[in-house]
Amino acid sequence: MTNIDPAVGKAVLAADRKHVFHSWSAQGLINPLPVAGAEGCYFWDYEGNRYLDFTSQLVNTNLGHQHPKVVAAIKEQAERLCTIAPSFANDQRSELARMIAEVAPGDLDMVFFTNSGTEAVENAIRMARLHTGRHKVLAAYRSYHGSTHGSIALTGEPRRWGSEPAIPGVVRFHGPYPYRSAFHAADEREECARALAHLEEVITYEGPQTVAAIILETVVGTNGVLVPPDGYLSGVREICDRHGIVFIADEVMVGFGRIGEWFAVDAWGVVPDLITFAKGVNGGYVPLGGVVISRRIADTFRERPYPGGHTYSGHPLACASGVATLRVYHEEGIIERVRRLGEEVAGPLLRELAERHPSVGEVRGRGLMWAIELVRNRDTREMLVPYNASGPAAEPMNRVAAACKKRGLWPFTHFNRVHVVPPLVITAEQLKEGIAILDEALAVADEYVTG
Ligand code: PMP
Repeated sequence: MTNIDPAVGKAVLAADRKHVFHSWSAQGLINPLPVAGAEGCYFWDYEGNRYLDFTSQLVNTNLGHQHPKVVAAIKEQAERLCTIAPSFANDQRSELARMIAEVAPGDLDMVFFTNSGTEAVENAIRMARLHTGRHKVLAAYRSYHGSTHGSIALTGEPRRWGSEPAIPGVVRFHGPYPYRSAFHAADEREECARALAHLEEVITYEGPQTVAAIILETVVGTNGVLVPPDGYLSGVREICDRHGIVFIADEVMVGFGRIGEWFAVDAWGVVPDLITFAKGVNGGYVPLGGVVISRRIADTFRERPYPGGHTYSGHPLACASGVATLRVYHEEGIIERVRRLGEEVAGPLLRELAERHPSVGEVRGRGLMWAIELVRNRDTREMLVPYNASGPAAEPMNRVAAACKKRGLWPFTHFNRVHVVPPLVITAEQLKEGIAILDEALAVADEYVTG
């Protein structure tokens, strides 16, 4: 650990609180941890407290912190060429696009680069609207798609509320969620069939000829790690084909290995028309995102200009970090190791927690993306804290998080859930160590269990 000096930490925090306006926060109510440094799966503060990161920051530091090969690539590129406008061709940008096309499914082989997942989503809906000449976009409840007006309008959770009205033309539907079924389904198969019938019905009432796109997170991320039942994604594909609707898979969180596949759609053998990505493509070292585009949609813009772009689209530093990251994925067999860690370590150990703790309602996930859903009562499934709880109502979850932090684990908590989303380079030992801490911390949640 380097840079440890409590006085520096205090000064960093004081300046932060005076001048830094934080996202999604009441500025007067936050107390961010000043981070002095980070390495691999750990980061530490100026007091010398070190944390095992079970969040991958915002589920993006897939290779952990300071991976030497990625750092070297950024340094080398900075010395060669820091920036060049998107209208020129650039070696790093070309190579990264080629590498992404190589691992993308089906005929998705062109890449539009952005600086974030949000911008990727904005561009994907623009492409779908122009390709189809239609304007409506169907998006799911319990989803997050980004924070600018188009992408926040698609977002199906409370973060949207403060931005409404955002853009017109967004229609919402319920996706599958067997544990809290909107369709009162008895099991996964029924949930899948009813969710597809519901989607079809929404399209019928909206008028298929008005629907440009259906966007969904292949595995819903922040809103619950909702792994789709087998048959759901292929059903959506079939509905899209039948009605001439563009299928957008938002893989900003799950793309590039999170569930042990290059793209999560690969787990179900489904090929969407557009895939949005960001986070894992370069592990967050330099802002980068984009859209992988099918031939058919790319051809729409062969003779006709695509009306969108960003000054930093395909930025050489970002692309160089992406090329280095994807090389590490290949060299270190990241995809296979995530699959193995999920099947052999994370899955079995987290399911054991469900047996030991009466507060655990359900454990679900795949690869290195898991959710532990906490309840007060397993029979009624009453959530440990209410949906969107804040202040005193959120205290049980805050206490669980504090119990983790006290033991050196930085947890990802959201509403009534703890997500386990560590860097993909985590070792089996570190994973076990973190889950053992969760085991201790869940005793706090058990205190609230009734009945
Ligand atoms: N889509 C999904 C599925 C996401 O998880 C996120 C970010 N959490 C976004 C879009 C937005 O990406 P960004 O924060 O990079 O703008």
